[in-house]
Amino acid sequence: MLEKLRSIIQEVNGARDLTATLNIIVRRVQQAMGTKVCSVYLLDKNIGRYVLMATKGLDQIAVGRVSLAPGEGLVGLVSQRAEPVNLDKARSHPRYFYLPETREEEFDSFLGVPVIHHGQVLGVLVVQQIDSRVFDPEDEAFLITLSAQLAGIIANAEARGAVEGFSPSGLHAADPSFNGVPGAPGVAIGVAMAVFPPADLRAIPPRPCKDIKAEIIFFNECLNAVRLDISELKNKIKGQLRPEERELFDAYLHMLSDNALGTEVVNLIKKDNWAQGALAEIALMHVDALEQIGDDYLRERATDIKDLCSRVLFYLQQKQKGSTSYPDRCILVSEELSAAMLAEVPKEKLIAVVSARGSAHAHVAILARAMGLPAVMGVGDLPFAELDGKQLIVDGYNGKVFSNPSPELRERYQEIVREEVLLTSELETIKDLPCETLDGHRVQLWVNTGLLTDVLRSRERGAEGIGLFRTEVPFMLREQFPTESEQAEIYRQQLEAFHPKMVTMRTLDIGGDKPLPYFPIKEDNPFLGWRGIRVSMDHPELFLGQVRAMMRASEGLNNLQILLPMISNVKEIDTSIMLIRRAHRELFEEGHAVKLPPIGVMIEVPAMAYQVDAIVKRADFVSVGSNDLTQYMLAVDRNNSRVSNLFSNLHPAVLRVMQKIATDVRAAGKSLSICGEMAGNPAAAVLLMAMGFEILSMNATNLLKVKSVIRNLTMVQAQELLAKALEQEDTESVKALIDEELHNAGVDKLLRSSRTS
Ligand code: PEP
Ligand code: MG
Repeated sequence: MLEKLRSIIQEVNGARDLTATLNIIVRRVQQAMGTKVCSVYLLDKNIGRYVLMATKGLDQIAVGRVSLAPGEGLVGLVSQRAEPVNLDKARSHPRYFYLPETREEEFDSFLGVPVIHHGQVLGVLVVQQIDSRVFDPEDEAFLITLSAQLAGIIANAEARGAVEGFSPSGLHAADPSFNGVPGAPGVAIGVAMAVFPPADLRAIPPRPCKDIKAEIIFFNECLNAVRLDISELKNKIKGQLRPEERELFDAYLHMLSDNALGTEVVNLIKKDNWAQGALAEIALMHVDALEQIGDDYLRERATDIKDLCSRVLFYLQQKQKGSTSYPDRCILVSEELSAAMLAEVPKEKLIAVVSARGSAHAHVAILARAMGLPAVMGVGDLPFAELDGKQLIVDGYNGKVFSNPSPELRERYQEIVREEVLLTSELETIKDLPCETLDGHRVQLWVNTGLLTDVLRSRERGAEGIGLFRTEVPFMLREQFPTESEQAEIYRQQLEAFHPKMVTMRTLDIGGDKPLPYFPIKEDNPFLGWRGIRVSMDHPELFLGQVRAMMRASEGLNNLQILLPMISNVKEIDTSIMLIRRAHRELFEEGHAVKLPPIGVMIEVPAMAYQVDAIVKRADFVSVGSNDLTQYMLAVDRNNSRVSNLFSNLHPAVLRVMQKIATDVRAAGKSLSICGEMAGNPAAAVLLMAMGFEILSMNATNLLKVKSVIRNLTMVQAQELLAKALEQEDTESVKALIDEELHNAGVDKLLRSSRTS
């Protein structure tokens, strides 16, 4: 059973398009189950009907022509119930609906299972038999399991068709859209550029090449480089190899020779394909063919081809790096965006980002927000390779991406862009005014930064300090750890740009979803593993180098404060302070006249919310990391789009813990700030101010919105709202309450996150 399933899935995975996918499914299922008929019906949302898309056993004439409304016939019954229907006398069932084009009159037994993807019925998979019998439980289990596994593949094939402007049944689809989750606000209209992780053959989009001759020469250079690597490797370990292993190396070298894979790739380049695309196509053609044979030896060879071609691809990508030409009004689309991908695009060209994975709380979304780029995250079925070069609209408010938009849709979005420009210029007028309530309560609005670009944007928006400089961002953009001097230079830029205002530098917070390419951390539960201060405690040399660089950079400026991430016990605070003091002493002895900066602790692990007394004895200030605090309080992976609807800073338990932290820190007389994204949500910012937070540190994009809301309320109103919010039992009622109260106060205009619906 497992073997049958695996082999069907493997064959389906290699299919070119939706039609090929469905034809493989009906043929293989009919064979595997030994039924007379297997058919698949898919919902075409354009016409709101389930269309017969492929069949083995019914009349082929009916394919694409026969369709049923939801709820119509037995297929409709399966879709309506979203569960299997297994009948021995289908024709006498009250919902039976005869479709003459299919000539199905002779089939009595019927088993239909829904194809469900992300909670939606995409279609129905049906098997039929002539004799009147109920399919046995094993048949049912087999079809259900298969359908569950096929759903994602079908959804993906549908999405690829949609990019070309077609609905599942081949009709012209108006403004195909892909749904994800809102990552960063704003809308953008531009051209997609697919980017992919290095050496991933399946991710390479087809593209034409600029100069065919030059591309062939370039490909051959890279092929030779890999051949050389393999020969060298073979020579190096010659003595340790058995004869059959030596043969394997020879086989590799043969595969890479001109008259094998190389020639096939060159022939494809000659047909105007870029080398990466041609290599990927040839490699995958062989890999898929070998994998389908179902023989262990050949499956191993498929792995060899994949490995060798990935090596060639790596060379092609390394050597082409830097020469990539990004379109104007570039929208980056990728399976999983990284900070490095964002940073590689010239700033003036990048207007939005789209990622198939991740959620609004992933670091790359936070970075997009800081850079003022609309972002859509977690677009599960995003056919990003197919989107390459296409016109796109990115709607960061509603988490939607449209490909090949119609002129009407374009005009609608252009109007929103115009509105946004207007709103921004209205907000600009308050940039130099204090963030003060109507009854004179003052809060400070600081910014979170990662790159120098953020710093410049932040200053323009009137930020009063940097509440969080994520030092890992510049680390993520490099190919090795920056030296102490290189770090000092980066830090100095931030400190100088904001001087004399304070700059809070957080020590390296890697791990979780922030890996460094040159320091891989592979763990089953990275968010509960080796991250933040835990890495620093195990690598004091990295920590010392970093804090030395920070203090050196602050010489003569004295506007630095140091923040410690992911603290989960007091020993980590004590050791960090001891190391910072040691670094300070060393610098002093080396002749640097630096002041010992204030040291702060982040509360982002729930346990620490209950040890504020111990923290304030040691630290000069406290900053709450509400992103991680929420993630850990609610046990919701901040990066997982499947559960992103469960992640909320406005959950009553999160609000209560924040209130507790605020009360305890304020009682100790220490400075209290928040540097999680919660601070940048104007509604939440009002509550935080009422709790007693003195500094709200956020992305530069939202700073003026927050200021505008706070300037239009009194502290008394904010405190009344907070008192009511703390009494609510769920997130929805907290949100409803805030909406109502802020609407009554006349400040809801800036809270609307959705302007298109
Ligand atoms: C946080 O967790 O709230 C925070 C500010 O840190 P980061 O988002 O970088 O993990
Ligand atoms: Mg954090």
